[in-house]
Amino acid sequence: MDLSFAGIFLTPWALALFGLCIGSFLNVVIHRLPLMLDRTWKSDSADMLGVEVKLPPEISLSAPRSRCPQCGHAIAWHENIPVLSYLRLGGKCSACKTRIPARYPFFEVLTALIFAALAWRFDSRPEVLAWCAFAAALVALGGIDWDTTLLPDGLTLPLLWGGLLAAALGLTTTLSAAVWGAIVGYLSLWSVYWLFKLVTGKEGMGYGDFKLLAALGAWLGVSMVLPVVLGASIIGAVVGIGMKLNSSLREGRYVPFGPFLAGSGVAVLLLGPARVLGWLGWA
Ligand SMILES: [Zn+2]
Repeated sequence: MDLSFAGIFLTPWALALFGLCIGSFLNVVIHRLPLMLDRTWKSDSADMLGVEVKLPPEISLSAPRSRCPQCGHAIAWHENIPVLSYLRLGGKCSACKTRIPARYPFFEVLTALIFAALAWRFDSRPEVLAWCAFAAALVALGGIDWDTTLLPDGLTLPLLWGGLLAAALGLTTTLSAAVWGAIVGYLSLWSVYWLFKLVTGKEGMGYGDFKLLAALGAWLGVSMVLPVVLGASIIGAVVGIGMKLNSSLREGRYVPFGPFLAGSGVAVLLLGPARVLGWLGWA
């Protein structure tokens, strides 16, 4: 029996449990961060213009406590246990019986599965914790972009710096591959954006997408930038066509690219850069 730190805490089962809890926190981030940003923007704009505006109530990631949006019932700790509480409550608010959206357990299970797969992929070595942080940030960014078509700088920029730091510490890729990954990641989508805008006069994506791909390049290395974009385009096209066919495409809104970049980044990480390059014949 392996009683070392890694043997206990970095196994797939332990990281899956940890992932459930982190996933629960990511639900809060995905829900609240856009509301917090919106409030800040409104308040800054009002200050700048010198006008009075009615601001929504102030919130942070930790306060106030989560409540049922329907009846205002404060959610007790035992109603907030990842997945288990959802199952025990039958997916309904204990007070008013309104349905709890399935996305809450979905993000918890998704994070748990990614963390467990990372533990397995990195053989419970300590750097798996850096990769878990990377994956958690991607889940949050994907969720926020899907909901709001925003990729907040408050997440993309620390993720980019974190990628450079992880490479400098020797946890991920070489520092040179990380720096070039960030540069090539940013500039490649920036060029596509301007080319698309010059040709069609439309904006196909936003600056958040460039920063996200720069961050992915910093973590995965420059050789993974193109595979990530290819993967994201394929998954994005399939999902976009699927949504069009069952007419769930939101009126006047395009499908955001960020969730697919994030998903493709996690997929490339789990498959392993060497294998992906081999499939593409670039090894
Ligand atoms: Zn309720």
